[in-house]
Amino acid sequence: MFDLSGKAALVTGASRGLGRAIALAFARQGADVAVNYRGNASAAEEVAGAIRELGRRAATIQGDTSGGREACEAIVKAALDAFGKVDILVNNAGITRDDLLMRMSAEAWDEVIDTNLSGPFWMTRAIARPMMKARSGRIINMSSAAGRMGNPGQANYAAAKAGLIGLTKTTARELASRGITCNALAPGLIETDLTADLPEAASEALKGMTPLGYIGSVDDVAAAAVYFASDEARYVTGQVLGVDGGIVMGA
Ligand code: NAD
Repeated sequence: MFDLSGKAALVTGASRGLGRAIALAFARQGADVAVNYRGNASAAEEVAGAIRELGRRAATIQGDTSGGREACEAIVKAALDAFGKVDILVNNAGITRDDLLMRMSAEAWDEVIDTNLSGPFWMTRAIARPMMKARSGRIINMSSAAGRMGNPGQANYAAAKAGLIGLTKTTARELASRGITCNALAPGLIETDLTADLPEAASEALKGMTPLGYIGSVDDVAAAAVYFASDEARYVTGQVLGVDGGIVMGA
């Protein structure tokens, strides 16, 4: 089940956190993985080393996914050069710049939209043609529970993550006839560097709202990514899967 042998994956923002866990989970299932990172080359090399120890091929690709069309095309080209193809793209790179709506700066708004929404759009644009030629592909977008339910202090982040769900569904509809699926993961509170700075009161409040009552691990999300990437998920597209302890229960 969920064998990814012979597949090549590209994971953005994969030098730590959820991206790192997804890259390693893909490698454990047999995939070769291109590890995109923005700044931390040694962390990306560590992830690549762990992938190679699992017997898979790895490439590290420096690139800023918020850099627009050319930056994203360069990342995709580097992955294609490394493996000859990309079967699976995970748009994972993301940031937070939290502030209350009335205090949020233009920079905080733009930076989060550029990274969390425009980045996945340009990455999808860049990967679509080679995937269409191959008549197969898996695109997985990292949304968030915040994009489904809103979150005080995260107008920019919630708007980007909600927008990403619209992008996911549209991509799924446009590319379905070419054998490409596109789905979104919507994690709740997961223990990573991103959430480490959350004030104790905020994380307690979120835990209190979570039916399962605890913070999730990166491996909880990575397992769901493996499923979306697999052949077994061939009939699943345009979906949003909450990996969130039940904090969002949609229809
Ligand atoms: P993290 O900060 O630990 O990791 C994010 C990674 O993305 C970092 O390595 C960072 O350098 C990279 N990155 C950021 N901007 C980039 C850019 N422009 N180009 C390339 N790389 C870039 O965060 P995480 O918790 O692992 O989050 C990963 C994804 O999951 C994000 O999209 C985040 O919004 C989403 N998410 C996280 C949680 C959570 O609770 N941790 C919940 C829901 C959604």
